[in-house]
Amino acid sequence: MTSEERRALSLVVQKYGGSSLADADGIKRVAQRIVATRKAGHSVVVVVSAMGDTTDELHDLALDVSPVPPGRELDMLLTAGERISMALVAMAIANLGFEARSFTGSQAGVITDSTHGKARIIDVTPGRISGALADGAIPIVAGFQGVSAGSKDITTLGRGGSDTTAVALAAALAAQTCEIYTDVDGVFTADPRIVPSARKIPVISYDEMLEMAACGAKVLHLRCVEYARHYDIPIHVRSSFSSREGTWVTGSKAHGTNGPGEHDEQPREDAMDQPIITGVAHDRDEATITVTGIPDKVGIAAKIFREIAEAGINIDMIVQSTSRATGQADISFTLPRQDGPAAMTRLREVQGDIGFESLVFDESIGKISLIGAGMRSHPGVSADFFGALADNGVNIRMISTSEIRISAVVDAADLDEAVSAAHRAFGLDDGRGEAVVYAGTGR
Ligand code: ADP
Ligand code: ASP
Ligand code: MG
Repeated sequence: MTSEERRALSLVVQKYGGSSLADADGIKRVAQRIVATRKAGHSVVVVVSAMGDTTDELHDLALDVSPVPPGRELDMLLTAGERISMALVAMAIANLGFEARSFTGSQAGVITDSTHGKARIIDVTPGRISGALADGAIPIVAGFQGVSAGSKDITTLGRGGSDTTAVALAAALAAQTCEIYTDVDGVFTADPRIVPSARKIPVISYDEMLEMAACGAKVLHLRCVEYARHYDIPIHVRSSFSSREGTWVTGSKAHGTNGPGEHDEQPREDAMDQPIITGVAHDRDEATITVTGIPDKVGIAAKIFREIAEAGINIDMIVQSTSRATGQADISFTLPRQDGPAAMTRLREVQGDIGFESLVFDESIGKISLIGAGMRSHPGVSADFFGALADNGVNIRMISTSEIRISAVVDAADLDEAVSAAHRAFGLDDGRGEAVVYAGTGR
């Protein structure tokens, strides 16, 4: 093939998640899919996750040898998972008679800041990937990892970060689309593991997908959607276990761009037909901290949240209540569960200085969010949402809203019921059949 002919081909980045690569058979199936894409005339760059639950297993192993493993070493350990996959996928492709070359994140030019465990990509210099493509080889890149520009240490992008590797490479290589292959047929109106009657969403806007991902719908990593929106990369989320059309995440519901070919023509929906609510997301990975008996003085809330911010912790919802009788306030806020111990330590250190009474850490909570651009112009959505929760005996502990989202914190034990109830109440259930979960443990 001449380089002229190669340039004429469309470039697609394909990312395969852990459940698609769980064992040797899975790897061989993925290799066949990659080769089929090549044979259909596309140029393809592949990003892989670690096999099955490897990342969780490595993480558990780290905690067995050290309760607080150093971030640098933990990242070095966890990135091994993706290295195993990339080499095995490359071997399986070679066995089908095509040349594949595996690359670590660092070799692929994924440059990050130095925040271990949740590094941000600051640049992508994919010279070796372009070189492999020019040689006619299929590059296989280890997802979820990069190298710090400053320290030169290996970093990870946060759980689920292989999606972000894929979109970042798609942007850097000016790919036509980024395909995210997972264990469900696309983005659904709720997690199919909780709501089997959830409907597949054919097209979803970047903004709505950002809210879904930020609210816990882990089918796409939050940063991957931010990246896609910024660089206007259409994402096609679909199953590696079927050939069904998946979900297109694009800039506009009404004006999609075309996909790489075959059955990949993006569906277009009349914006007028959009439902008010796009979906229901849930998050089990948050916790609350309540600071009680806070003196009701100017500047105290600022002091508390300054401490949390300086510990590098992002908080989400905040509720303050003041007692008229005592003149004291209580403040509750939500934060990622894994950051709980660090936040508690930090606040205990300043208890004397700030003068609050006590701290309560609660992990037994869950967050449910209703997302939909249509709620901007439809009154009564909150009333219907809270009504659905109340009718099903679900108590609401905290509430927050944005223009296109309403979130409520509920007891962890009530979360599944809350998601199903809200999904039913907004008419999102699909009478036609059950959403398929092809694989994975949902861990
Ligand atoms: P992968 O290993 O392929 O990256 P993930 O486990 O990270 O897969 O993401 C896919 C999972 O996301 C699904 O199996 C499903 O349980 C979960 N999920 C949560 N919310 C949704 C949603 N709204 N639509 C589809 N899947 C969802
Ligand atoms: N293997 C990593 C994880 O389990 C990254 C990913 O799958 O995207 O979080
Ligand atoms: Mg994932």
